[in-house]
Amino acid sequence: MALVTGGSRGIGAATAVRLAREGADVAFTYVRDKDAADDVVGRIRALGRRALALRADSADPAEAAGAVDRAAEGLGGLDVLVNNAGIGLLGPLESLSLADIDRVLAVNVRGVFLASQAAAARMGRGGRIITVGSCMTQRVPGPGGTLYTTGKSALVGLTKALARELGARGITANVVHPGPVDTDMNPADGPYAEGQAAMTALGRFGTVEEVASVVVYLAGVDAGYVTGAEFSVDGGHAA
Ligand code: NDP
Repeated sequence: MALVTGGSRGIGAATAVRLAREGADVAFTYVRDKDAADDVVGRIRALGRRALALRADSADPAEAAGAVDRAAEGLGGLDVLVNNAGIGLLGPLESLSLADIDRVLAVNVRGVFLASQAAAARMGRGGRIITVGSCMTQRVPGPGGTLYTTGKSALVGLTKALARELGARGITANVVHPGPVDTDMNPADGPYAEGQAAMTALGRFGTVEEVASVVVYLAGVDAGYVTGAEFSVDGGHAA
């Protein structure tokens, strides 16, 4: 039984479907795009697994933690949490308002913390917490990333500390850092795409499946001795 936050589109949707393909029943959260959520539900059910689409805003503390409880109750337990929901707000330091700072930290950090806390309370041995960070935590390629990178870097500390906190209970925590990946947040034909692709060793954007496959590896039994680790899935952006 798995919960993917922000699973209606992009990396989260690919991860939710891939987890189902590996045999998991999957709940996922979304906020705005009900049609996209319904589509993901259909794709999971077509694989013969149970699917649960939960409208829950990670920016809201009660909804962020509550989604974990709703998922665990709806599916009958929780083995895997994928903290994927995130917002990508980039911009010059002087342009960032207090509201911007609060919003980004609420979704990208506080919501992840609260979901992890709620999931840890429900998970048994073999539990998995996988968090989606960013290549910006490894290398900031230019200006405009202060707020986003601040939030994503907090997830590295959270992951290492969770690994220590939960290791004795047989629960692992890891963080995956995507490079530029073709999604609605960062389209491969967007205005800044060419420069991003050029910063990778492979010279191209990644696909959502290329990130989902690493997340799903970390969710499986093969990754039983992997915890507190960072995984770059970034085409060599940090190389
Ligand atoms: P998308 O914007 O394409 O998709 C975001 C998903 O998260 C949607 O399903 C959206 O649902 C959901 N979502 C957004 N805000 C919230 C919220 N407040 N609460 C719950 N769900 C929410 O993003 P990506 O797939 O590109 O990104 C996924 C993760 O990967 C993010 O954490 C991002 O920071 C990270 N990342 C992405 C990179 C990229 O190049 N794409 C690079 C590095 C990291 P809906 O709109 O339906 O509400």
